[in-house]
Amino acid sequence: MVFLSAKCLKMIGLKQYEQCNIMWLYFCRHQVLRIVAKDVTQLPLIKDLEQFTELDFWTYVNNVENPVDIRVPAHSLQYVKRYLETHGIGYSVMIEDLQAMVDEEQEQMKAAARSAEVFSTDSFDFSNYHTLNEIYSFQDQLVAENPNLVSKIVIGQSYQGRDLNVLKFSTGGSNRPAIWIDTGIHSREWITQASSTWFAKKIVTDYGRDPALTAVLNQMDIFLEIVANPDGFVYTHTNVSNRMWRKTRKPNTGSSCVGVDPNRNWDAGFGGAGASSSPCNESYRGPSVHSEPEVKAIVDFVKSHGNLKAFISIHSYSQMLLYPYGYTYTPAKDKAALDSLAKTAVADLRSLYGTSYRYGSIIDTIYQASGGSIDWTYNQGIKYSFAFELRDTGRYGFNLPANQILPTAQETWLALLTIFSHVNNNPY
Ligand SMILES: [Zn+2]
Repeated sequence: MVFLSAKCLKMIGLKQYEQCNIMWLYFCRHQVLRIVAKDVTQLPLIKDLEQFTELDFWTYVNNVENPVDIRVPAHSLQYVKRYLETHGIGYSVMIEDLQAMVDEEQEQMKAAARSAEVFSTDSFDFSNYHTLNEIYSFQDQLVAENPNLVSKIVIGQSYQGRDLNVLKFSTGGSNRPAIWIDTGIHSREWITQASSTWFAKKIVTDYGRDPALTAVLNQMDIFLEIVANPDGFVYTHTNVSNRMWRKTRKPNTGSSCVGVDPNRNWDAGFGGAGASSSPCNESYRGPSVHSEPEVKAIVDFVKSHGNLKAFISIHSYSQMLLYPYGYTYTPAKDKAALDSLAKTAVADLRSLYGTSYRYGSIIDTIYQASGGSIDWTYNQGIKYSFAFELRDTGRYGFNLPANQILPTAQETWLALLTIFSHVNNNPY
């Protein structure tokens, strides 16, 4: 299929509605609306919009402090705006035309086109977004270059049969206390896989040079799963119309809608509020706990390893550092310790470029979410269970421009290192 950008169609003289009628301009005139409730009585009115499956909630309804960002297709814009106006609910247009943003991202990827084979991780282009093949090739090359520090383990296969690769950074010992990091469990959150690729290189570069990281790796192992949802990730690259795919790619029995939200599928408050029972919903919890092979593989790994001391799952967007719980208002028993560590970590993150993060428990800070990974790992006894929401706060949402990859990765690394060192210095 020939890909024509909106810019290109404009040049050949098509009117905007004609451009939008062309199938592959899928996000043409899709807008992202930021809705702000003025009081609690408006929250259920906003929540009522969740029943329209063509609306894609980028953030969810929780309290009046948190705006709700919704991607609205062109044909629903008039209805949604009128609905909000009728009920006196305030909103603004965060993204005027999502297609233009997706086009720009595509053009930049094409301009930076490179071979899928990575010959040296020194020349890997960390400042651009990459495909799954490029990232997997990068991983293999990193292992080949650093056989004494990095190995690759395959913890399972995705629904479509792709290897679930995890990089293990270890300086020796057996079954040392360890730190887990996963990125990309929601496939459209491209800044997370991109940052994670940079983290992998950073670890091999800084070991033996940076005293803090060296101290950590002399006692602990680090496990890094860069692409936790490879089927979804490949799907976001397959066609521009799939760029906003979040879930897994497993079909659902009795429904034409595909996929499960792999961060609502864990055995922690599964089926409770803050997840959907509808397969067509973006936060569909799945038919049963750990039904998704991508989730089950991590569950099995965590249990069989048995010595993980920190579990960090990285998402975007919103700029937050979160700890349990998401499914219940009952505070985590280590809340004070987690809160104090989160406070230090976000201060360190901010020290580099001034990027401001909020922090707190999931339920207090963003919204009630049941079946999430870090609630499950915390209940398994992994005290330092955290979730990041990386840049930005909604200007670009999931289409964070590639020129923000390096600064995002660099600032996030400072927070990660703070957590690593704390865990290493406070054994339990
Ligand atoms: Zn996410």
